[in-house]
Amino acid sequence: MIKINDNLVIKQNFISIKRIRPATKYKKNSLTIHSTANPKSTALNELGWLSNPQNKRVASWHFAVDDKEIWQAIPVEETTYHASKREGNLNSISIEICESGDRLKTLLNTIELIKYLKKQYNISKIYTHNDWSGKNCPRVLIDKSQVKDGLDFKWFMSELEKKEVVELDWKQEIIKKSLELGLITDKEWLNKSEEKATVWFVLAVANNLFKLLKK
Ligand SMILES: [Zn+2]
Repeated sequence: MIKINDNLVIKQNFISIKRIRPATKYKKNSLTIHSTANPKSTALNELGWLSNPQNKRVASWHFAVDDKEIWQAIPVEETTYHASKREGNLNSISIEICESGDRLKTLLNTIELIKYLKKQYNISKIYTHNDWSGKNCPRVLIDKSQVKDGLDFKWFMSELEKKEVVELDWKQEIIKKSLELGLITDKEWLNKSEEKATVWFVLAVANNLFKLLKK
């Protein structure tokens, strides 16, 4: 299980079926959004289908997201069969949006997952299945007859961007304030808001604080 924020975790149950998990490893440089084309199935149902003996298809994914949870079926480094194109299968992380349940919640969960993956795997490019092969997928975002309450691809991408900007602003503000106060002195930190604080950094801040209090 991987915690991605206070309300959301990634549950993992890796499948072991060679047909859809060849276990070949490739570096991922993008992610691809799909939807399940099944209005009733949850993320757990989708996971179950992958290892269902009746399933003979060569189709697999890394993550499936519904309004309550996220399931991961295959490690990110490995190939999944999702894009209908070799490059997409090898180099792109695959995400299935479930069509069941509360659509807004499902899409917001997907956005949280994408934010996490972008940061974790240094990914900037986001594709739809449609970009790779022209398939009507993710239909819940790109097919007018399937989009609910205006929650389409344009909305989805702007929401993702908005959340990322807010997060960056929040961290940048703290760094700016700390520079003003003299807690940190190196302006370079403005470009490092995503870095983790080292022991030395924390001690330097403590030293500066001590100096300031002694004045
Ligand atoms: Zn698809």
